[in-house]
Amino acid sequence: MSTSQPQPSPRQPAIFLGHGSPMNVIDRNPWRPVWQDMGTQFGDAPGARWPQPRLILCISAHWLTDGWWLTAMAQPPTIHDFGGFPSELFEQQYPAPGAPELALEISQLIRQPDGSALGLDDHQWGLDHGCWGVLKPMFPQASIPVIQLSMDYSQPPAVHLALGEQLRSLRERGVLVLASGNVVHNLRAMQRDAPDNHAYDWTIEFDRKTEELLNQGDHMALANFRQWGRLAELAHPTWEHFLPLLYAAGAATPGAKPEYLNVGFQTGSVSMRSVVWS
Ligand code: ZN
Repeated sequence: MSTSQPQPSPRQPAIFLGHGSPMNVIDRNPWRPVWQDMGTQFGDAPGARWPQPRLILCISAHWLTDGWWLTAMAQPPTIHDFGGFPSELFEQQYPAPGAPELALEISQLIRQPDGSALGLDDHQWGLDHGCWGVLKPMFPQASIPVIQLSMDYSQPPAVHLALGEQLRSLRERGVLVLASGNVVHNLRAMQRDAPDNHAYDWTIEFDRKTEELLNQGDHMALANFRQWGRLAELAHPTWEHFLPLLYAAGAATPGAKPEYLNVGFQTGSVSMRSVVWS
């Protein structure tokens, strides 16, 4: 009988993180310590759940394009794609390397809905705050290469889910699939002074409904969220923050049980619920 400790699975998880306000990267809040703790669960340290990723493939709510693109520069710049925040936030840098050769490989492996290769962007984008805002707390050394994958917002949610399913095989090859958005995201209804975890009834209802469907593994019902009518319109006047969840859910192993982190709300109209599929 073997007495050795169980070895961590070589497979990387699929993760969806609710990122909320850009200020979460620097101010005092309950969410960032959870991101920091999650980062410590990768690597060789005792108690780590997963090996260090070979690559992080990040899907952010903030990179919307015509067709799908991968960042393919050797040193993706840190993009400060927001306004009206203190200079400390604009000074933040996340100097993780890119991986142009892996981007080329992935662009051939993952196909656009029309069967063509993913686009390769070597000069326009970089890492936006949806990505670096959570990566910096998770992996502060910025030593793991990062590639961002854009989203074609003109395409229906089910197409995004199908693209996420294509990402599943990458997890077996040491790629951490990290999607970043919010389960509920309505900035128009935001209440800046709302204490954490106070939320509108519709915020709570949409969040619970999402949890229920995730528990059932019914990702297609999630992709059809716009059929929920008024509830969906309130939770997502625009739905770019919901789409990343479909990528992570698509990349999840069928039948894998979702684990939840940062279950709670920010400014009344944003759900911070995050999901991990091992
Ligand atoms: Zn955002």
